[in-house]
Amino acid sequence: MPLTPFHIGPGLLIGEVFENKVNLISILFASILIDIRVIYCFFIGCTGRFHGPMHTFIGATVIALFIAIMVWSLKKPFKKITDIFKIQNSYSSSSIILGSFIGTWLHIILDSFMHSDIIPFWPIKSNFLLGMISNGTNYLLCTIALIIGLIIVTYRHLRKVNYKVQPK
Ligand SMILES: [Zn+2]
Repeated sequence: MPLTPFHIGPGLLIGEVFENKVNLISILFASILIDIRVIYCFFIGCTGRFHGPMHTFIGATVIALFIAIMVWSLKKPFKKITDIFKIQNSYSSSSIILGSFIGTWLHIILDSFMHSDIIPFWPIKSNFLLGMISNGTNYLLCTIALIIGLIIVTYRHLRKVNYKVQPK
């Protein structure tokens, strides 16, 4: 990981700052779903590398495509959910694709800094990202991103509740 919930921070911040370019639902799903196998292995157990093929850029690309298709197919119900929370967000095809790829690839990069069993550039075996950023800094950056992201979401929500939707 960093523990799966920490990945929500960067996804939320990027999705909010680039609300017209990056679909928030896609980037949040993408930030988390990469860890499905890790969570399964942690609770149920599995053989082989703990992080496995999903923690490679090739695996992340496959997952990103899957998430992009899923969000694009379900964009009406997802939009209803974000509308309820008054989260203005682009649901264009490009923003869904961008969110899916940024989310999965950023997850791989952040995890590659801290886990020696990850082979991000498979089939190339080396991982030059390992140790480039300390675990503490990694967690700190994710936490700061989460706090800033939550502040932006809350601020925008309150502004729209109080002053109606502002045309952009
Ligand atoms: Zn992970």
